[in-house]
Amino acid sequence: MGGAGASEAERPKWTTIHGRHVDVSKFRHPGGNIIELFYGMDSTSAFEQFHGHHKGAWKMLKALPTKEVDPADVPQQPQEHVAEMTRLMTSWRERGLFKPRPVASGIYGLAVVAAIVACIACAPHAPVLSGIGLGSCWAQCGFLQHMGGHREWGVRYSFLLQHFFEGLLKGGSASWWRNRHNKHHAKTNVLGEDGDLRTTPFFAWDPTLAKKVPDWSLKTQAFTFLPALGAYVFVFAFTIRKYAVACHPPSPSGIYLGFFFGLSHFAVERVPSTATWLESSMIGTVDWGGSSAFCGYASAEKLGLPYRELSFAGAVKLMMVGLWRTGRDELQLRSDRRKYSRTQAYMAAASAVVENLKAD
Ligand SMILES: [Zn+2]
Repeated sequence: MGGAGASEAERPKWTTIHGRHVDVSKFRHPGGNIIELFYGMDSTSAFEQFHGHHKGAWKMLKALPTKEVDPADVPQQPQEHVAEMTRLMTSWRERGLFKPRPVASGIYGLAVVAAIVACIACAPHAPVLSGIGLGSCWAQCGFLQHMGGHREWGVRYSFLLQHFFEGLLKGGSASWWRNRHNKHHAKTNVLGEDGDLRTTPFFAWDPTLAKKVPDWSLKTQAFTFLPALGAYVFVFAFTIRKYAVACHPPSPSGIYLGFFFGLSHFAVERVPSTATWLESSMIGTVDWGGSSAFCGYASAEKLGLPYRELSFAGAVKLMMVGLWRTGRDELQLRSDRRKYSRTQAYMAAASAVVENLKAD
């Protein structure tokens, strides 16, 4: 019934924000279809995260009608998680953690741009070295465009600068990335909703994804994952920077970005669609080397949620062993199934013979 588990088409078009079931059936969400991921369930934390600071969004929310919903249709989502997330958000906002840091990140951006110019200038003299330098700079552009997507330079300039770093310097699409990345933050490690898990048919991180990966890839994925990441940025690079691709190995930036992303999410559990923001963040994320400290032990402990803190080496091991095990288990399952169906075929043939004999 209702929200949880219902397919996209039958999901009811309401969402709960701060205890009110808001009718969004006639609402065109300015941020695109991300709102559909919250049809028929609580979206308070997502609203707080994306719009808590924005007066216009609160006004829009107020203007939307309330929907009468049968309590049986409301999926069970722990309200204490929602309340804890709101409390955390409020305290972080009060501490100024969401304030843009235009000067510090501006200096970082300028340094990267200067390094890119230097690499291009040096390319005729030291092609390999400047190629590696350029690849590393593109990885930094990945971080910089991420900051832009998170409005690091304030509401007015952030997206413009994101287009500069992602579009002009990296050859990707800033708005495509934003749409995907917002879903990643709102539905971390939720299968089918967090687009960053879409690594099939090449790599599988869990039994569900493994079903969409061919045998050869399951056999080799633990060994091909890292080298393949190099190709990821190669594709981006080829779109506009032919010259740079021609003279340098494109792999450093892809491996750098993809590898670090993988460490944080790939090896840990998938979460159900109705998970609260806190659940999907805690269950679906590894805090390796203190990199993604989310809200610390306090909240996790209070609510009985897992909080995984690993060293860099520990996270690498978890990811690579996980990749290898997923491949091995699915291959085993497939071979069992083949044996089983072969046995079944023999049995069917044997019983057919017996039937024939009986008939004679
Ligand atoms: Zn982000």
